[in-house]
Amino acid sequence: MSMVSTGPRTNLLRACWAASMVILLIALGAVPSFAQKAAPRDPAEPAQGGPQPKLPGRPGGAIARKSVDQQSMQALIHQLVECGTRLTLSSWTDPRRGIGCARDRVVARLQEIARQSGGKLQVVVDKFEATAERTGGKPVPLENVYAILPGSDPKLAKTLFIVSGHMDSRPTKVMDAEADAPGADDDGSGTAVSVECARLLSTLVASGKASMRATILFAVVSGEEQGLLGSTHLVEWTKQQGYTVGGMMTDDIVGADPAPGGPHRVRLFSGNGEIEDADGASRELARAIEEIDGREAIRMVFRLDRYGRGGDHAPFYRAGLPAVRFTEPLENYAHQHQTPRTEEGVEYGDFEKYLSFSFLGDVARDNAEALRQLAMAPRPPANARLRGAVTPDAKIVWTAEDDPERAGFEILWRETTEPRWQVYDFATAAGETVLKGVSTDNHFFAVRAVGNNGARSIAVPTEMK
Ligand SMILES: [Zn+2]
Repeated sequence: MSMVSTGPRTNLLRACWAASMVILLIALGAVPSFAQKAAPRDPAEPAQGGPQPKLPGRPGGAIARKSVDQQSMQALIHQLVECGTRLTLSSWTDPRRGIGCARDRVVARLQEIARQSGGKLQVVVDKFEATAERTGGKPVPLENVYAILPGSDPKLAKTLFIVSGHMDSRPTKVMDAEADAPGADDDGSGTAVSVECARLLSTLVASGKASMRATILFAVVSGEEQGLLGSTHLVEWTKQQGYTVGGMMTDDIVGADPAPGGPHRVRLFSGNGEIEDADGASRELARAIEEIDGREAIRMVFRLDRYGRGGDHAPFYRAGLPAVRFTEPLENYAHQHQTPRTEEGVEYGDFEKYLSFSFLGDVARDNAEALRQLAMAPRPPANARLRGAVTPDAKIVWTAEDDPERAGFEILWRETTEPRWQVYDFATAAGETVLKGVSTDNHFFAVRAVGNNGARSIAVPTEMK
């Protein structure tokens, strides 16, 4: 085919090229007015074209995939599996078998990382008791392990971002403290992600290459399989310590990707919240993570969790806090919550051999980068409201504390049927922004804060009230 041909195939190629450019531009969020363009038969809002704000770029210095220490993640999971069982009701004192063995190994690894960070990271063992149906209705001892990377900014040091995995595991019978429960994936994988995030981010801070304004907590909890006991306690602990939770992400079953055609995207589950005509903070945390790590890395699922299952983000979500769950692309139920055995040729058990450490490393990188950007960001705006009902102009109103490190605020909008935000306008100060010629009724709106460093807070949807 010659270069000057105008045959049907060339036209088709041009059409494909044009379509792919549109998709690319939408993906980059480069053209704010595309929310309108998707539906040419609807009236344009505003009629004269929207603002074209110049927006600060995202923060540089993203965590590189090659900086993830995959070998150490694998080694930690191996050490956890060696503990035989990590049922929360097993021994806390036996150094070789039971959940105490797991705690010791997690603490040892975190202390090693803390030494490498020149003391930036503080390792804490939080001991408590809990009673639940799956403790036999009587109080049992539990322990969570935390590594804390204190925020550098006095204004934000009491804002806490959390990444968690759970060190406990279970066999088929959830009260059976004797049976083997290797728990390589559930949740050795999430434990390794939380610990590796502690290494990546404390190393970054220790090197002076980045400063985290907010505090980050790398949690390894217990009691998940007995009814989310460790994370339920962690919600209370954050309150007692005077923290505001800026975002919580749990990694639970993030180590395998056996389906052909991989690597596939990790799933990110988020609940709706209960606000009429606005998504809750957990959904906004999911959107923020997807925007940071990219659509090629993250598959958002707009659902609190998989049916019939729970996770450590749920107690945070139910407390109205932004909390989400990472889980591998497609689960194999023969490899979860199963006492190791072979039946009719099927092997059951949660073994290391089913894990993909390169997939797990990707997940660690994506968690760490999301934590980095969120902890660098200004506090989200407050009291975001939509005004202007039954008028031609939408008005977005919000408040925010003074923050010299903040460049301003992005006004976001989306079609009510669109999953993702686009930037409509930029405002340097809190207060009211009038969206001239934009109806209150045809879009959802939100506001987020943008730092001088380019880091964005999670979005705060406007409520009409
Ligand atoms: Zn789990």
